[in-house]
Amino acid sequence: MKTLWGVDLGGTKIEGVVMNAENNEVLSRKRIPTEANKGYEHIISQVAKLIDSIKEEVKIQPTAIGFSTPGTTDPTTQTMKNCNTTSMNGKPMKADLEKALGVPVELANDANCFALAEATMGIVKDVLPDAKVVFGVILGTGVGGGVVVNGQVINGRHGIGGEWGHNFFEDDGVMCYCGKVGCNENVFSGPALQQYYKKLSGNDLTMKEIYELHKAGTDPNATATLQHLIKSFGRAISSIVNVLDPDAIVIGGGVGNIDMLYTAFPEELKNWIFNSRKVETLFLKPKLGDSAGVFGAIELVRRY
Ligand SMILES: [Zn+2]
Repeated sequence: MKTLWGVDLGGTKIEGVVMNAENNEVLSRKRIPTEANKGYEHIISQVAKLIDSIKEEVKIQPTAIGFSTPGTTDPTTQTMKNCNTTSMNGKPMKADLEKALGVPVELANDANCFALAEATMGIVKDVLPDAKVVFGVILGTGVGGGVVVNGQVINGRHGIGGEWGHNFFEDDGVMCYCGKVGCNENVFSGPALQQYYKKLSGNDLTMKEIYELHKAGTDPNATATLQHLIKSFGRAISSIVNVLDPDAIVIGGGVGNIDMLYTAFPEELKNWIFNSRKVETLFLKPKLGDSAGVFGAIELVRRY
């Protein structure tokens, strides 16, 4: 039996899945804590421990393993960068994992794996199976993105393909952790929107609470915050639509649960793109939830 192996290597947990390549049946699924605070070597040994225990269960050896990781591998230096689990940055993780596991590994960042999984096994596959170009967005604590063309992730020359969260949005914006000013992430991530609402109202509420207040129609500041989201997201995503013109855009993350993104949004986008007729880009809610990382990781090694 041909099997596919994928690992979602996150800052708090490491999850591994083995799938039957013929019918996508999950044969084993296990998770262990990352214990990232114990350092990089410990993370690698946790991965090895997880893979050993899966091997023991399924009695099959992997031929390759795909990984969803917090940051990306720089194609030139072959070391990790942009990881929020900072001990991984600067480390040759692909080489270290291959040494520890004894098989080839493929790495892609979590937003790319999200986009890949939803494109090939998730909502896009269900709704628009012949989609060629898919953009996956994660709108949560941060803003991430991934581009999938014909079932392949576009990693890019610097390994930053799809990193639209750090596109420039406004001159007088706040300083981003990436070192630039006015990134998309600081305009319409969950925390940025909560901050926007706080400036208007003086209150600290979660995005979910703000959305509920808007729906109740009782709080003009909540409505202004939602309008700010739709407007800024529309302007920002228009750059993606004008360049890639994707068949579908899948919106994950906490902010992605806001229904207005799917209802009010296509109308807003019309104002910003080079197209005068109806906007036909599909805006879709993801289907795979937490599993997108691990299924995207599996997709990375399907060709082995
Ligand atoms: Zn930034």
